Amino acid sequence: METPKGGGSEAEFLKRIDGHVRKRYQRKGGKYVCKKCNSLIKQAVVIVAIHDKCYSETTRICSGAGRRGKALIPYCPKCEGPPKRMSTCVHV
Ligand SMILES: [Zn+2]
Ligand SMILES: [Zn+2]
Repeated sequence: METPKGGGSEAEFLKRIDGHVRKRYQRKGGKYVCKKCNSLIKQAVVIVAIHDKCYSETTRICSGAGRRGKALIPYCPKCEGPPKRMSTCVHV
């Protein structure tokens, strides 16, 4: 899947990933496989900047205290390929 665009809450971010996983992949022996092509789902590590919600919404400039986290973005190597967006942000 493509990395969700920045600017949402952490819950929204996780919900997007979860929704995609439920729709496109299925569990098989503790792993996920693609519903379409049966490939083993891979994960890409992306950087998630943690921005200050109040500041970013008032000024419309994404900013935070420089905190960063990482997230795992699942993707089917056959149907989707690795995400192009390797960093994003959440507003908390
Ligand atoms: Zn941001
Ligand atoms: Zn696939």
